[in-house]
Amino acid sequence: MKNPAWLGEPFAIKNNKIFLTKKVAKRLLAEAQEAFPFEYSALLTGRGATITACVPMPISPDKHVFAWDEKTFLQALQHIRKHNLQWLGVLHTHPHTPPIPSARDIAGWHYPTLSYWIVGLASEQPEWRVYQWALDGNCGSFEARDYTLTDAACDDEETTPSSAPKNS
Ligand SMILES: [Zn+2]
Repeated sequence: MKNPAWLGEPFAIKNNKIFLTKKVAKRLLAEAQEAFPFEYSALLTGRGATITACVPMPISPDKHVFAWDEKTFLQALQHIRKHNLQWLGVLHTHPHTPPIPSARDIAGWHYPTLSYWIVGLASEQPEWRVYQWALDGNCGSFEARDYTLTDAACDDEETTPSSAPKNS
């Protein structure tokens, strides 16, 4: 089955690097640090292999990243389609642990073409990692990939959250 156009494939070309604009990286880090000690998560959007925007997801103190409620998630996807972007990945933080996918992360991942970012905030310097889902027989696992920060950005693609994150 062919993926819909809004569902990106940033690793489509074998071993290609994924790109993240500095502007988006800065915004993600600022929001992630603001959410601390809670987990922060966002959908990453853009075109091809370049992430140029993000859609922050509501912060929930007691739920894991993939416990996003369905309505919020569908709204985010709608936003991506409306702006003619592609969904290229997901980012979440590990506020207290290294940026290594947890068993729960692995079990909860259902979008193998997308990039999977984890920012570890437990160390003095934030640790960024990006993973690609790799199938090995019937088993899947995350493999670390390289990424490149880039200056290229398009302000037209700037996104704002449809609703403010709730901190309860
Ligand atoms: Zn995780």
